[in-house]
Amino acid sequence: EQLGLNELREKFLTFFESKGHLRHPSFPLVPQGDSSLLLINSGMAPLKPYFSGEVTPPRKRMTTCQKCIRTPDIERVGKTARHGTFFEMLGNFSFGDYFKREATAWAWEFITQVLEIPTDKLYVSVYQDDDEAYDIWTKEVGVKPSHMVRLGKEDNFWEIGAGPCGPCSEIYFDRGEKYGCDRPECFVGCDCDRYVEFWNLVFTQFNNDGNGNYTPLKQKNIDTGMGLERLACIMQNVYSLFDVDTIRNITAHVSEITGAVYGQSDNKDVSLRVITDHIRSTTMMVCDGVLPSNEGRGYVLRRLLRRAARHGRLLGVTRPFLYEVAGTVIRESRGAYPELEEKRDYITRIIRAEEERFSQTIDAGLKILLDMIEDEKKHRSAVLNGADAFRLYDTYGFPIDLTVEILEEQGMSADREGFDKLMDEQKARARAATAALGDFAWVGLDLGLDKDLKTEFTGYTEFESPAKVL
Ligand code: ATP
Ligand code: MG
Ligand code: MG
Ligand code: MG
Repeated sequence: EQLGLNELREKFLTFFESKGHLRHPSFPLVPQGDSSLLLINSGMAPLKPYFSGEVTPPRKRMTTCQKCIRTPDIERVGKTARHGTFFEMLGNFSFGDYFKREATAWAWEFITQVLEIPTDKLYVSVYQDDDEAYDIWTKEVGVKPSHMVRLGKEDNFWEIGAGPCGPCSEIYFDRGEKYGCDRPECFVGCDCDRYVEFWNLVFTQFNNDGNGNYTPLKQKNIDTGMGLERLACIMQNVYSLFDVDTIRNITAHVSEITGAVYGQSDNKDVSLRVITDHIRSTTMMVCDGVLPSNEGRGYVLRRLLRRAARHGRLLGVTRPFLYEVAGTVIRESRGAYPELEEKRDYITRIIRAEEERFSQTIDAGLKILLDMIEDEKKHRSAVLNGADAFRLYDTYGFPIDLTVEILEEQGMSADREGFDKLMDEQKARARAATAALGDFAWVGLDLGLDKDLKTEFTGYTEFESPAKVL
């Protein structure tokens, strides 16, 4: 029998409960009390105070399925088989309790015994200097040396500046030659879709003093992360994340609305996947209290929604439609995230309002941009000047990344420096005006929302700090 994404999530969490872990629901996407991060991007991120020892965890072993947003992957979405801006990360964590031996054995037990993934399809990487992990994998867990790979710091050492850090092990699934690239050295660590990394086990055992001096930690931690969508992709033996059961249903809804049939044209497929991914991430972000704005995480939301709206236009749909697709996202995920159903009306209203706001200017903006492109080409320039890029942003609501993306399709780029300069000037003007209004005057500022939405949900906007500029 084939396991659905929702069943796989449950299998994982139950398995780690059976190993003494406390199951905790996903934390919200908006970090709580952590200003170093715009949006939660991993299972460990909201658990940082437990790892550092600042706060005592409810139990030394925990397991979660965490909602994650990774905008740095945005360019890859729809192009690789394995990246989304939104995904769910399954994780098991040890706060000074078990370490490498148990973490590796349980990971292997879960994937080879519970899920019955054949071991000849699995490969394991270790950090090049981590002989301890290499020995445990080969001698205790029983992975063949021919299925082991040593990788460098970039891929297999986890660290963010000073503080706790350590080597990791990644588990890869070989999807076979047909997914491979042409590089003769294509193997684990290659960027193609053949050997898919799906589970990362981080062994936090050192402290970095900030000058590259590593000392062993007294309290060693385990932090693992497995992409639920990637696991489902492997288990369901499908081509990409977008063919996984619950996600396919979202794409089907987009197809139904746009009339674009999946699998018939490469360009349309990219648009279908981008829309599918972005409506997943934005539905989840709005649910967790993010509102569209021009700064911080509100800007991330706006950028994703507007990018999706523009891809809708590429498929010929000019009316707001994303808010309807949000309904399918809610239906597919409400079992695991009941808050989606509770906030259904709110979520659809916010998304629809943003679509309507953008639809008032997008067509005019697209037309102006095409004129600008013509003009630059006439002058044999492949760079759109900063003033024009800024006008598109300021007057037509085009996030700069959207402008750049459209330019790239025409083999052009934008004068980013010129744009940034105008942007900084505008922000300085806005700050001066805000300062004149006194503390907290920014609450609800420039959200451009309908009045009723604004007053109803000002509580959430307090996360938006004007000082945090992308
Ligand atoms: P990759 O090298 O494929 O970009 P990563 O090394 O950046 O992945 P980790 O930070 O190790 O990923 O995160 C743990 C797991 O989360 C990965 O092994 C993968 O299964 C999943 N994951 C990471 N990024 C994404 C993404 N953008 N979309 C879907 N799943 C992801
Ligand atoms: Mg990555
Ligand atoms: Mg990786
Ligand atoms: Mg990794």
